Amino acid sequence: MTSALMQTYARSDLAFERGEGAYLFDGHDRKFLDFASGIAVNALGHCHPHMVEAVAKQAGKLWHCSNLYQIPEGERLAERLCAATFAESVFFSNSGSEAVECGLKLVRKYFDGAGAPERYRVIACEGAFHGRTLAAIAAGGQEKHLNGFDPAVEGFDHVSFGNLNEMRAAIGPETAAILVEPVQGEGGVNPAPPQYLQELRQTADEFGLLLFFDEVQCGMGRTGKLFAHEWSGVTPDVMASAKGLGGGFPMAACLATKKVGAVMTTGSHGSTYGGNPMAMAVGNAVLDVMEADGFLDGVNAVSKILRGRLEETVQARPGVLAGVRGLGLLLGLECQEGVANADLKARLQDNGLLTVGAAGNVVRLLPPLIIDESHVDEAIAIIEKSCAEMEESP
Ligand SMILES: *Cc1c(COP(=O)(O)O)cnc(C)c1O
Repeated sequence: MTSALMQTYARSDLAFERGEGAYLFDGHDRKFLDFASGIAVNALGHCHPHMVEAVAKQAGKLWHCSNLYQIPEGERLAERLCAATFAESVFFSNSGSEAVECGLKLVRKYFDGAGAPERYRVIACEGAFHGRTLAAIAAGGQEKHLNGFDPAVEGFDHVSFGNLNEMRAAIGPETAAILVEPVQGEGGVNPAPPQYLQELRQTADEFGLLLFFDEVQCGMGRTGKLFAHEWSGVTPDVMASAKGLGGGFPMAACLATKKVGAVMTTGSHGSTYGGNPMAMAVGNAVLDVMEADGFLDGVNAVSKILRGRLEETVQARPGVLAGVRGLGLLLGLECQEGVANADLKARLQDNGLLTVGAAGNVVRLLPPLIIDESHVDEAIAIIEKSCAEMEESP
């Protein structure tokens, strides 16, 4: 198939026409259970009535007016995000990469303002994913993303994820910050042990570094807390959020403590679209739902059921599956050696379940946070069937 689009994705042949809750429908009205959620974006499923109403209402009032003017809905969303987190200031942008980029700029400017501009290096983890801008691919440090785009942005060091000794050994006089995903998503669904995050907080404090969490994928209710780091009891100085934050509308946020956020002054950073009235209406609508009584309890309850059922399935299908990993509704099915995750993913899709691949031969399950036990039953039946088929004719 020829296409006028740059060929940056290995796309499936499917084309969807509409979505409803946890389901997507293609042009032939074939129904798919969506455990991909646009890669953890459609946190409230498709066409959630509260979001549809918020968008429709805002679309008839004001879409965009520029940050040259007051945007009350943005003030309100920033206040709500701060009230719900460690943060005291927020910068809105349009994508996860931009939120990471804003955080990296904050780190540099913070030390520049503190009279230590020589401290600009950021230690990140192997297997990380922080987005696709030049700085974000340097932060991620993955050869497959950096290849062909030399010279890489300067100032990133990489250590194994979860290894405190390596992290401490990598700290030097130029180190400014530690950047980690509390749960690595693209990297294979690897949750950081709570103790590791606690030790990173202590280490950052000991060496006067900033702690920067990338919660673009694992945040916004995905793990059963509003943000995944809450499970560890420690807080960062800077955090990137996106994906679920807009529930399908492109938006992102970089959150920071007061002392860090204060380094951004008039003219030091900007975004034409960032925080526009349309995005802010959507962001507030997403928070309305997630902050409602019992929402996160529901995520925790259903994720426990899904996890248990997946573990049973792994036991029952050792020819295909090797294990389950993850946190909340950010789950990974590890495929057995000799079984390619892409083949399982394709088989699941043929049988009506959409999933996403991840590193480490993992199939990622990222259902919308609104699923109930009936969706779990349906997904498990499809996974069972697909594994059985693969055991019969690999
Ligand atoms: C998706 C993702 C990003 C990049 O977000 P974009 O919106 O694609 O720019 C950054 N960090 C993490 C952890 C992600 O999962």
